[in-house]
Amino acid sequence: MSVFCQGLFEGKVVLVTGGGTGIGNVIARTFGEHGAKVAIASRKQVVLDAAKEELKANGIECIAIACDIRKPEMVALVVNEIIAVWGSLDVLVNNAAGNFPARIEDLSANAFKTVIDIDLQGTFNVSKAAFDAWMKENGGAIINITAPYENFGVAWQAHAAAAKAGVVSFTRSAAVEWRPLGIRVNGVAPGGVLQTEGIDRLQESLTNKPGAGVYVEAGDIASAVLFLASDAARCITGENLYVDGGATVDMTKMAAYES
Ligand code: NAP
Repeated sequence: MSVFCQGLFEGKVVLVTGGGTGIGNVIARTFGEHGAKVAIASRKQVVLDAAKEELKANGIECIAIACDIRKPEMVALVVNEIIAVWGSLDVLVNNAAGNFPARIEDLSANAFKTVIDIDLQGTFNVSKAAFDAWMKENGGAIINITAPYENFGVAWQAHAAAAKAGVVSFTRSAAVEWRPLGIRVNGVAPGGVLQTEGIDRLQESLTNKPGAGVYVEAGDIASAVLFLASDAARCITGENLYVDGGATVDMTKMAAYES
């Protein structure tokens, strides 16, 4: 049972990028379960359509629009369509990202750039589109899904760590610039989340290491996002909230992240 009241986001419009799969899908569903109309956007229309049908079967109003967040023109079309259909865009969750484990020596320039383009440039593109089309005049809340990486060195994740550190920095700058306009910008940094593709791949080896068992669930990330999007967080902006079961404050648990 949810700790939030059921109609908390009644009448609100939420866009979740990458909302067809994994954590983004749980975030989209959780907003919908609390009354929001939910738009999901990513590249694969077939994945989005399946997710949309599932959300609708649970009584959630949903639109699903194919979009590559690396392309600002496509992103602007998506944001404009959401506003044309539902009349507002109150909450943006920048969740879409690309990642794969790789040592620096095996990363091509193009592989590194691709992750920066999706995670960092994509977050900028969608935030800017939401700002231009709606939030500049009406305020809103932006939540960027980051990673608990920016204060550490992370083996096999130099590309994602650099991209997410950039997202944290962008979060803070946008929070400062857009605060006078009633736009709050925060981050949520998940630890290793169970039942997501990347972590499933790593899980078997990690569970044999000391300090394993620090995994959180996608619902824990959704709860943090809903809190930051709600009026309960009206004085919170520029933060990056770690939701990692304490992994990063406990050096023994950090051993679970070693290569
Ligand atoms: P996921 O299921 O792989 O989700 C990534 C989503 O991003 C997919 O829906 C994908 O859809 C979309 N996407 C990728 N490239 C895109 C592009 N160019 N344009 C538009 N959409 C794009 O990953 P997840 O594990 O749920 O992760 C969700 C978020 O949490 C990410 O920001 C990730 O970095 C963060 N995170 C996850 C973990 C974890 O343990 N899983 C830990 C720390 C942080 P398409 O393929 O259809 O485009």
